[in-house]
Parts: sequence; C-alpha cells; structure tokens
Amino acid sequence: MKTSVIGYPRVGAFRELKFATEEYLNNNITKKELKSEALRLRRTHWNVQKEKGIDFISSNDFSFCDNLLDTAVLLNVVPNRYKALKLDALDEYFAMARGYQGEKGDVKALAMKKWFNTNYHYMVPEIEDETRIFIAGTKPFDEYVEANGFGIETKPVIIGPFTFLKLARFTGRKTVNDYTDDIVRAYSDILNRFNALGAEWIQFDEPYFVMDLCEEDIMLINKLYYQILSAKGNTKVLLQTYFGDTRDCYSEITKMPFDGVGLDFIEGKGSFDLIKSLSFPEDKILFAGIVNGKNIWRNNYSYTVGLITKLGKYCKNIVLNTSCSLLHVPYTVKNENALSYEYTKHLAFAEEKLEELFELKTILSSNEPASALEYRENQKLFNESRINEKKNIHATVSALSKDDFIRHPNFEEREKIQKAVLDLPLLPTTTIGSFPQTKDVKENRADYKRGEITFKEYTEFNRRKIAECIAMQDRIGLDVLVHGEFERNDMVEYFGEKLDGFLFTQKAWVQSYGTRCVKPPIIWGDVCRVKPMTVDYAVYAQSLTKKYVKGMLTGPVTILNWSFPREDISLKDCAFQIALAIRDEVLDLEANGIKIIQIDEAAIREKLPLRRSDWHSEYLDWAIPAFRLVHSSVKPETQIHTHMCYSEFEDIIKDIDDMDADVITFEAARSDLGIVDALMEAGFKTEVGPGVYDIHSPRIPSVSEIEDVLLKMLEKIPKEKLWVNPDCGLKTRGEEETVCSLENLTAAARNIRRSL
Ligand code: GLN
Ligand code: ZN
Repeated sequence: MKTSVIGYPRVGAFRELKFATEEYLNNNITKKELKSEALRLRRTHWNVQKEKGIDFISSNDFSFCDNLLDTAVLLNVVPNRYKALKLDALDEYFAMARGYQGEKGDVKALAMKKWFNTNYHYMVPEIEDETRIFIAGTKPFDEYVEANGFGIETKPVIIGPFTFLKLARFTGRKTVNDYTDDIVRAYSDILNRFNALGAEWIQFDEPYFVMDLCEEDIMLINKLYYQILSAKGNTKVLLQTYFGDTRDCYSEITKMPFDGVGLDFIEGKGSFDLIKSLSFPEDKILFAGIVNGKNIWRNNYSYTVGLITKLGKYCKNIVLNTSCSLLHVPYTVKNENALSYEYTKHLAFAEEKLEELFELKTILSSNEPASALEYRENQKLFNESRINEKKNIHATVSALSKDDFIRHPNFEEREKIQKAVLDLPLLPTTTIGSFPQTKDVKENRADYKRGEITFKEYTEFNRRKIAECIAMQDRIGLDVLVHGEFERNDMVEYFGEKLDGFLFTQKAWVQSYGTRCVKPPIIWGDVCRVKPMTVDYAVYAQSLTKKYVKGMLTGPVTILNWSFPREDISLKDCAFQIALAIRDEVLDLEANGIKIIQIDEAAIREKLPLRRSDWHSEYLDWAIPAFRLVHSSVKPETQIHTHMCYSEFEDIIKDIDDMDADVITFEAARSDLGIVDALMEAGFKTEVGPGVYDIHSPRIPSVSEIEDVLLKMLEKIPKEKLWVNPDCGLKTRGEEETVCSLENLTAAARNIRRSL
C-alpha cells in the first residue's frame, strides 16, 4: 500500500513566502531573491514529504498566490488590461493578483472568491472574447524538473479543465462551448509535455466534480476527458476530487481511462456507498482520502483501518491519501511550544498528517493491524477523555425555546424607531471596523504578549490609537464611527482568546488569500464568556465623539467557521454555545450606552454545503438561528449591523434577510452589482451597504468613481435603505491610502446626497 498527498502548504512554516513577497512588492528585495526563497520553500516541502515516507508527492502545488491563477496564466487566460501593462511575467502575475497602480497604468486585481467550502480564496480567471487558450507558461514543467533535480519524482498537479471552466468568468459573448476545443488541445499538450519529460503520474484536480451537476456538465466532462486522455501516452493520470462525493458523475468517471481516481472519504459522505453499489474498476487505483485535510485532530486509526478494510472488498489497489490539499491546515505541531502535551498529542497538522499516512500504511501492511504498536498507541489516545465539558452550558442550550430566537418588534417597526432616534443623514457613511494595523499597532500587541510592557502601557497605547482614529474619522466626516480594532490580531482569534473553551496556537498559520494567512483557534471544549470582552474600548471610543461609535463583535457562525471545530459535539450545539456567549456581550454593550452594534458574519456563506439539498437541513437551519439568538433581546432602538465578506449570497437572500439584522454591509466592488438586483427582486428588507471600493488592493478610488457606483446602486436601492462604506475592514491597508480613500468616499456621498 502506498501513500499520497494531494498538495502541501506553500507559504512556509514561518510564513516565509508571505514576508518575501511583501518585501519584493515593497522593492526591498529583488525578483531573484524572491524566486530563490520560493525555491528553498519548495525544496523544503518536498524533502519533508520524502523523509516522512510519502510515495506520491505533488509538484506545482506551490504558488505565489493561487493555483487557479497559475492555471489561468499557464493557459494564457490573461485579460488584455494586464497584458497592456507590458510587465514581465511575475509582475503581470502580481498585477492580476493584487492590482497595479504605477507608472505603467492603473488596473484592479481580478475578482476573488472563496474556494468551495473553505476559507481559501481563488482569483477568478476572466476569459475574454479575444482570449486564445494554449500553453503559454512553463511553471508545472519547471517545477517537475526542479524536483527531479533534487532526486524526487513528483506527480505534477494541475487544476483540471472542467473545474477551470466552471470557475472562470466569460466576460464577452463567448461561452464554454467556444473554448472546449482549445482547452482539450491545451490539456493534451500538458500531457504530451509531461510524457516527454518522463513523468510517471500527473494529477488533475477536479473539485467541481463534487458539486451538483446537470446533464450539460456531464456532457462537458465526457467531451473534455475522452479527448484529453487519448493524449495520455506513458504518463498515468490521476483524477483527483475533494470536498465531497462524486455522486453525479461517478459512473462516468470510473468508465474513463484514468489510471487513478481520488475520492474523499471525509467530506464525501456518499463515496463508500458509490463504490459499494456501483463497483470500482479493477484496472484503476483508488486514491482514498482518509486523512482529513481540513481539520487538525488526530486520525482515529480504528475508524480508518476499518474503512480501508471494508474498501478492500471492492478495490484491489488502494493508495492512502489526504482528503484534500493540506493547504488548509497549518504546518506542524512541533512549533507550538506554548501548548502542553496534554493538548498537542491530540493534534495533527500537515507534517503530522504525513506521519499518520505512514503509520496507517505500516499498520495496514501488517497481518494483524489491531495489534500494531502504532494502532494501539492511537487507540490509547482516543480512549482518554479529553473534553472539558460544562454541564450548565449544555443545559442552557437545551433549554432554548422558540422565543429566544425572535426579536421584537418586527423589522419595519424597528426601522421607523431607529430612524427617529438615531437621526442619521441619508446615505450614512461608515467603515467595516478595523483601521490600518500599522507597525506600532502590531508591536504594541507583540510587546504585551511577550511581557515587555505592562497591561497599563498596552491599553494606554490602544486608547491613544483609538483617540487618533476617532479624531480622524470625525475630520473625514464619516457618520457612524468605529474604534479601529487596534487590540485585535484577528476578528476570530481575538474572541477565541477571550472566550473559555478555545485553544490558540503560535505558528498555526493557514493561507487565506495571496500573502494573507490566518491563525484559526481550536475549539477544545464547551464555550462560554468569562467577562466583557470589548466593552471598555467601545465605551471609551464613544466618549470621544458626538457621533455614534459601533460596537464591534464577531458572530457565532463566523467564529465557528473560522476555527477548527470539535468533532465530538454537533456544529449546531457549538454555534449555539458561542451565540450565547456573544449575546452576553451584546447586552453589555447596550447597557453601557452603545447604540449601534455590528456583529460580523464574514464567513456565514463559507460553510454552506456544496450541494443544495443539504443547505437547510445541514446548515442554515441552525446557522441563521444562531445569529438571531445573539441579538434577539436588544431594545428596538438599538441598531444591529452585520457584515459579510463577499456578496455571493444571491441564492440564500431569504436566509440572510432572516438573520433579522437592521443593516448589512458586504463586499460588492470586486464582483459586479448583480447582487443588488437580486436583493431588490427578493424584497430584501434589511438596509444595505454594498461596498463601494475594494479594500484588498492599495488602489485609491476617485470621488467620481465612487459617485458612479452610488448612482448605479441608487437606481436599484431606495435611498432610505442605502449605506456607504468600503468592502471590508481596513486593517491590511496603509494609513495614507486609507485616509485618501475615505475622504473620497465621504465626498462622493455628500455630493450624491445633495443631488437627492
Ligand atoms: N470588523 C472586521 C474588520 O473590519 C471585519 C473583518 C472581515 O469582515 N473580515 O476588520
Ligand atoms: Zn469583510
């Protein structure tokens, strides 16, 4: 039995790639230095997989930003506006990833979307009518050869043609059908080239195969792959799926001449039954995804060995695989020296997952798996009780009744009351919460964490920052202010650290988009609030201005979705526990004179099941109530805002409205304003602030640009319901660009307001 890894994280255990890239973009290091750091990381990651005994190691899983963007560039899917900049390859790549504003032009970045049900983001490839698809790059070939040079035979991984076409955006009149021939030629070319290089295997990632597929999709899959696979030659092709099961195309793909098929047995609830009822072809290898690529708990060997043994009845050749790329978990538990062994022994990050694959291979190769040493050790761990349960919390959750989820009076009444009490101008301007996390802000937190400054020094610094931030917002003329979130490293980690029941890590970074990484907390036990978490700073900020300052909280669903969840209680129970804790905070803010409270649910769409039939039963039926529970008992005049990153909620508009917030702000600048039409059509009641400019890029939007956006929005949205704000928090931006952008934003709002 062999082992395989779908992909390995690339940013580096200490986020080296992030820092090198940022240094390069700030002109502090050369292109050559950046590339050599990238090479060093690739080599390190290949080596660790080799040392841990992995048989199938991927190449081309490295990326300076995103693998889908890499695939687009490989296929020459580069929009003209970037080509027109006449930059060299790497800078053109960064222009697509981050936008470009400089002597050669001014172009926004490509749109960014969440990668299936993860917190990783991909850049949306744009196929224009003039686009010609062919192999225009050498990255996968170069990296394969490079690994070979280090004595490592890899399986190059490339996003497959179907997933690529499904995720790309066609900006002109052409559609998928106009490009299938070119795509077939390009992917055949990839196979030919790897044949020529002598590659044994190549892996096509097709996560889109686990989505709901229609007949046309199936036809497209057939059309693409029968032709592409005829170019296979000696290189074997692994079709790799993940994030679910392939129920809609299983019978097709198992008939195709793939040499290996990768199925997910963690999130793919139906994978086993598909094999059992439809059989698995004898001439293919099953790459069985049994080591969870998304969560950080140790693998339960008794379950896994049982599953593989059962699978053995139907499949002759099995390779032990991760369930998806390890990109979604941190590097290694070894760097977590602040957590005691009591905790770490239950954890497995990327490197430990390699060890698990190897141990499972050893166990499964022995005559009596259950008596293998590794197996027994693992069972000892799983038989220990480890969760710190709090009986009263379970009792409160089970005692919740319908009324706890309903806010009174209804929205329309509240809207009237709030308009009268708050007395805000038309098109109120606001921001999403955070202000630039400048060096001094980060240093202040770091110094405090290291014990180099006292709590008093630490808070005094934050208060100074808050005072500056409030003064700045007053000067800019914003209507609803924020305190700036200088005390927060991350919107989830901050609360994770204050709430009981979480573990937090030192180096457990996971890539979110581009160079941005997040460090998700781990939900270890039952969650509750120990004491107020945000009240002091909020009250202080409010004391400095006559304008309203929003209280700023993270919602329960986002806290859950951006943490590594428990697997021993349901997500629903966990969400309700967190909701009760945040609810305490909401009520405390209100009692302390905060009139507007924002409860961010940046990640609510993220864990929406990939298949529509599961949306309500498995998710929305508890996620929306969890949010309602948080604010159901505030006074009618207290205005509840929520914020969502990404506006892709067209198909759950009703559910978003059902969160029963008073105002919702969301990303809209990078995607077009399609969502606005959908909102109005659906009779969306909640007031809305679709972001008027993109905060993921340092570009400064002009006044007229923002005016245009507002006018467009006003064609659809009644003026009484429209708020004016950026797409998201400003923490990743520079100070100067932030001030300029917000000045332009308030100027635009003032101008439009006058014309109304
Ligand atoms: N209030 C948070 C901030 O402004 C929201 C961040 C987010 O939506 N990701 O940073
Ligand atoms: Zn956001």
